Amino acid sequence: MIVVLLGPPGAGKGTQGERIAAALGVPKLATGDVLRAAVKAGTKLGLDAKGFMDRGDLVPDAVILGIMKEALAEPAQAKGVILDGVVRTVPQAEGLAKVTKELGRRVDVVLTFDIADDLLVERLSGRTTCDTCQKPFTGLEPGTKCPEKCGGTLVRRKDDEPEAIRNRLRVYHEQTEPVLGWYVKAGANVRRIDAVGSFDEVTARALAAVGR
Ligand code: AMP
Repeated sequence: MIVVLLGPPGAGKGTQGERIAAALGVPKLATGDVLRAAVKAGTKLGLDAKGFMDRGDLVPDAVILGIMKEALAEPAQAKGVILDGVVRTVPQAEGLAKVTKELGRRVDVVLTFDIADDLLVERLSGRTTCDTCQKPFTGLEPGTKCPEKCGGTLVRRKDDEPEAIRNRLRVYHEQTEPVLGWYVKAGANVRRIDAVGSFDEVTARALAAVGR
């Protein structure tokens, strides 16, 4: 089962994506995680992507399509994959449709997380993220050792600074929201869920939406 997670930054796609992936027994692919790991490792991909990411802008479609294509061809994803933040523009949705078709597969569910902008600003500005396992936390200061005991340290992501947050939301409304309309028009199985609630409440809604 291929599930595309759509929704603004801070809506909980990452956390819920992990839970959906675990429930379905498939991996999760988050282009944000792939790109942050590349930045940390100092690879060409990372160097190319860093400026866009720090400002809260989108990395060019061609870069994302390359990551998508490579990841979907991996045997580990044969049973399915949860795509978290992987599709953020209409050309990326078109590219994913082409790649899946070539592999004889298709997007089974498009799951959208609905939440108001004010709540997102509050969530993102209070968030720290582990520099190693990438798990997000609220209420823990930068510099704290990661509670997951992965050996990492919590940091404030550059794109969780107020100016970058505002830009990410603007970019989301301008470039990513139209993706939803594109999927509706393409006749995809689009499910909208309320992303406000406890982790468990939102997980229950998400699993129901993917038929679990
Ligand atoms: P995320 O961790 O999903 O919030 O992604 C962090 C940043 O990585 C985004 O603000 C973008 O700069 C970049 N990024 C991740 N996924 C994509 C994508 N599908 N298209 C363009 N840029 C992306």
